[in-house]
Amino acid sequence: MNPYEVLGVEKNATAAEIKKAYRKLSKKYHPDLNDAPEAEEKFKEINEAYEILSDPQKKAQYDQFGTTGGPGGFGGPGGGGFNSQDFGGFEDLFGQFFGGGSRQRSRNAPRQGRDLQYDMELTFEEAIFGKKTEIRYTREENCKTCSGTGAKDGTSPDICSQCHGRGYVDVQVQTPLGRMRSQQECDVCHGTGQEIKDKCTDCQGTGHVKKEHVLEVNVPAGVENGNQMRLQGQGEAGTNGGPYGDLYLVFHVKPSKIYQRQGADIYVDLPISFAQAALGDEVDVQTVYGDVTLKIPAGTQTGTIFRLKGKGAPRLRGGGVGDQKVTVNIQTPKHLNKKQKMALKDFVEASGGKAPQESGSFFDRLKNL
Ligand SMILES: [Zn+2]
Ligand SMILES: [Zn+2]
Repeated sequence: MNPYEVLGVEKNATAAEIKKAYRKLSKKYHPDLNDAPEAEEKFKEINEAYEILSDPQKKAQYDQFGTTGGPGGFGGPGGGGFNSQDFGGFEDLFGQFFGGGSRQRSRNAPRQGRDLQYDMELTFEEAIFGKKTEIRYTREENCKTCSGTGAKDGTSPDICSQCHGRGYVDVQVQTPLGRMRSQQECDVCHGTGQEIKDKCTDCQGTGHVKKEHVLEVNVPAGVENGNQMRLQGQGEAGTNGGPYGDLYLVFHVKPSKIYQRQGADIYVDLPISFAQAALGDEVDVQTVYGDVTLKIPAGTQTGTIFRLKGKGAPRLRGGGVGDQKVTVNIQTPKHLNKKQKMALKDFVEASGGKAPQESGSFFDRLKNL
């Protein structure tokens, strides 16, 4: 490779002319800007040529010997160097020693922004019926002034002068197998391959600004505690032109004093008296849709569960509506007046039994045991 030919400059070109030619060509062939299949190879060649001609020592060596030789050189006649292709297999094998050289190449590729989480509190009823609401949160957005490039209005970012847009630099590393060539993230551009000389004043060159984001959200009917909902593109702005991340809405449903929920079914306890259970009755039961009359048949046992069809929560993804399950709980009266006691004693005798004695003291009961 003749670096003068690659950059299209004369042998006596000045440093400024070399730099100008390099900038023009590297912009033309930058893989992010040029889709042609040979662009990447050409871009690499341009950078290698510039690496020689921008370094006075290497330039002098090339002018004298026609090669720069040595490790990292170009394998010219008598150079004896090796190039990165020669140990491509090794590179992957020993990536672990170097912190993964090949991964850093993708640092200047477009990357999606971070996902965010928003915790939303809902009442028991809101979770069942859903609601339309507005949420506000702070996120990183693309700076409108510079369209996310980070460069001052009217300018565009330059290709990084240290790594020539690659985002990484070659370094020598001591490994258990001897000295080897590896790649490190470029500390000038932090892997982006771009250098911003004239920074946008609104975002200080980051391309991002923190902003309050207002979003209208439709909470679907039937969500449960802990359910998540993904809102695409409502997370933070991406880098290098990458898309926005997503927002995850996490629902926290406050417990109800009356109801308990299991999936689409709602459970309630219904206290009734011994007489209502024995004789049967009609009672009003609370549901989230309003009161419903429930017929208690005569002879109902405690713990019996009655089903109110369609009075539960809607199932997500259109699976109909659950039921309300009413568990009967027969209350034993704690204090009876004289009349009630008489009636109950009569009841026992009418059932063919012997009315129980007034319960004695705690010690009397112990003796009976
Ligand atoms: Zn750089
Ligand atoms: Zn900006």
